[in-house]
Amino acid sequence: PYDVLVVGGGPAGASAAIYAARKGIRTGIVAERFGGQVNDTLGIENLIGVKYTEGPKLAANLEEHAKEYNIDIMMSQRAKGLQKKDLIEVELENGAVLKSKTVILSTGARWRNMNVPGEAEFKNKGVAYCPHCDGPLFAGKRVAVVGGGNSGVEAAIDLAGVASHVTVLEFMPELKADSVLQDRLNSLPNTTVIKNAQVKEVTGDSKVNGVTYIERESGEEKHLELEGVFVQIGLVPNTEWLEGTLERTRMGEIIVDNRGATTLPGVFAAGDCTNSAYKQIIISMGSGATAALGAFDYMIRNQ
Ligand code: FAD
Repeated sequence: PYDVLVVGGGPAGASAAIYAARKGIRTGIVAERFGGQVNDTLGIENLIGVKYTEGPKLAANLEEHAKEYNIDIMMSQRAKGLQKKDLIEVELENGAVLKSKTVILSTGARWRNMNVPGEAEFKNKGVAYCPHCDGPLFAGKRVAVVGGGNSGVEAAIDLAGVASHVTVLEFMPELKADSVLQDRLNSLPNTTVIKNAQVKEVTGDSKVNGVTYIERESGEEKHLELEGVFVQIGLVPNTEWLEGTLERTRMGEIIVDNRGATTLPGVFAAGDCTNSAYKQIIISMGSGATAALGAFDYMIRNQ
């Protein structure tokens, strides 16, 4: 069996595997691919100490770094179940069962898409998902935020500091964000809120030049000219396969303590699949390190 088995190959998983392997213990990592969401990112400017890099390059760096160590790397595999017996067993979709003394879950998350024409086409060309990452690219430009929940309104307040104008498009008749956030948003001069708006299409040529929405009450079609669209309709953790095994939030995020331990002894978690407050590369890497050290600590106490 492994001492530490990491499930997920994004920044959290790569970091966890490297930290575990550096303890000289039997470490395995199983994932669909190295890099996770990083593969879908163009420019990365907030990985501190690295002024600029690109997603595919960082993903390759993660892999290269992991390969420096004695880590059993199993890619193109998906886990579909977890069970605690004497050891912890992770079942893969191909039917294989991996056994380990401790497991670190780092299966990440995915942004919910609008699934309208133009969204996929203009991803990284004006369509963005992460205001902390891509906000500065829209300095002095007009943007829309789709979604009026807490993350959408937080994004709009954040973006209003750099963009020339921010329009929030909310599908429902009311915003769902906390009222303190709504008050803050309404106090900003360069923001507009449009409720009852169903986004129909993101328009553009080589990059985004606008968004078309339907005014749901009248059924009328409207068009906004702008340079950026931030989609904030939810981040979904990849934890469906853990149903019934350990405690998750209402949103499906794995609940961890300050050592990365989940409610199932010996099982740790890190990165975007957990209830960590913010979802960023540097934060995932940090929590991967925490979970690996937490798992090591657990192991030496439970041998
Ligand atoms: P992920 O990166 O989501 O990796 C999860 C891994 O688990 C993947 O390898 C996946 O294939 C695997 N996996 C999932 N389910 C299973 C399963 N059942 N079995 C096995 N493997 C599984 N952050 C920044 O700090 N700066 C940025 O500039 C930035 N830009 C971004 C741009 C975009 C378009 C997106 C989508 C995100 C961006 N982020 C950015 C956020 C950042 O990418 C994430 O916070 C980070 O990748 C999370 O790392 P993670 O390891 O927790 O999860």
